[in-house]
Amino acid sequence: MSEKTIFKKIIDKEIPAKIVYEDDLCLAFQDVSPQAPTHVLVIPKTTSLKSLDDVDESNQALIGHIFLVIQRLARELGIAEEGYRVVSNCGKNACQTVPHLHFHLLGGRGFAWPPG
Ligand code: 5GP
Repeated sequence: MSEKTIFKKIIDKEIPAKIVYEDDLCLAFQDVSPQAPTHVLVIPKTTSLKSLDDVDESNQALIGHIFLVIQRLARELGIAEEGYRVVSNCGKNACQTVPHLHFHLLGGRGFAWPPG
């Protein structure tokens, strides 16, 4: 069996994280190295999805659920009105560092476009 990722250890409560939302399917917690005043990671609890590239039709409901959670969190965290950014780094060129599907929810400041 492959070694647990840092995110799986957070799901299993083996290492601490500032959790802002949890249900049967997903977990949201503050990024340890925030890139904006609000920087939350939203992840599925399943370990079968290493990145967005692993998602298929069988995961449609899960991904839709996660995006509704992201929308709700943006409202609850007070960043919806001014605007926010959702990012999923997928693979080497996108600088993905943790091989467990995750969505960055960033807000509380203005963002540049195009991204770096
Ligand atoms: P990626 O670069 O894969 O898109 O994003 C991984 C994110 O996980 C980074 O923003 C990084 O700061 C965050 N991260 C890495 N290790 C930990 C940790 O142990 N706890 C928390 N809360 N975030 C982490």
